[in-house]
Amino acid sequence: MRIKILGSGQDAGIPHTGCNCEVCDKARDHNENRRLGPSIAILDDNGDFCYLIDASPDFKYQLDMIRGEINEKKRNGRLPISGILLTHAHLGHFSGLWQLGREAVNENELPVFCTLKMKHVLLDNYPFNLLIQNKNIEVVEIHLQKEFKLNGLTGIPIKVPHRDEVGDTVGYIFQSKKRIIYIPDIDSWTDEVLNEIRNSDIAIIDGTFYSKGEIPEHDEVPHPSILETITLLGDIRNEIYFTHINHTNPINIKGQERKELERKGYKIAYDGMTIEI
Ligand SMILES: [Zn+2]
Ligand SMILES: [Zn+2]
Ligand SMILES: [Zn+2]
Repeated sequence: MRIKILGSGQDAGIPHTGCNCEVCDKARDHNENRRLGPSIAILDDNGDFCYLIDASPDFKYQLDMIRGEINEKKRNGRLPISGILLTHAHLGHFSGLWQLGREAVNENELPVFCTLKMKHVLLDNYPFNLLIQNKNIEVVEIHLQKEFKLNGLTGIPIKVPHRDEVGDTVGYIFQSKKRIIYIPDIDSWTDEVLNEIRNSDIAIIDGTFYSKGEIPEHDEVPHPSILETITLLGDIRNEIYFTHINHTNPINIKGQERKELERKGYKIAYDGMTIEI
């Protein structure tokens, strides 16, 4: 099995909407510098299944990134994916679901895994309620800290502290041959989550900002800075990838910050990156 990073950017991706900073302008000129909205795919090596974590605003381009990697349709759907697992109700993580409706794919009962609170966000709000009514998606409820099975993979949703204007936020632990944790968004690390990261073989985690104060409104959109995260984690023996990277983050350019992270053994996710699990 393998994970493919479909989007390593913060919710709005890079280039960021309406921004003309150096990083965003470079990404407009050079595709390899882009970061799409946050999403990963879990792909079976035999092509038997493919699960997406989150449906970003760049969903349609991200489907193109896994084109040809599924060799057999295992369900009666229109898209070559087996289901979507949601983390939370922010722009970058669920707005791509709209593409499953009649204006676009008109998908047939695609399983969408989420918590009860997230299910209510979908049931209570247009256009997601229409996707349910029209049977474009079928919501599968999963429970915090409770295992669920996805073909040969075990998943566990874990609670993550994050500004939850609606719904709630989860990260996911997956157990295959390896233990993997995916947490694209978190307000601040808890001991519990840090221990889960330390106990994983592979952790793909929130790297939105490199340092505090990178944007003036940091208090309104809190994320642990990468500097804080690497201080808390210290010497690492597992694979840790930073993702959900904002356009303001200096690790977007090949400078001192990037070099220092790599020297310490940390990895920086990029779109199209494949990780064997
Ligand atoms: Zn996000
Ligand atoms: Zn920018
Ligand atoms: Zn968020």
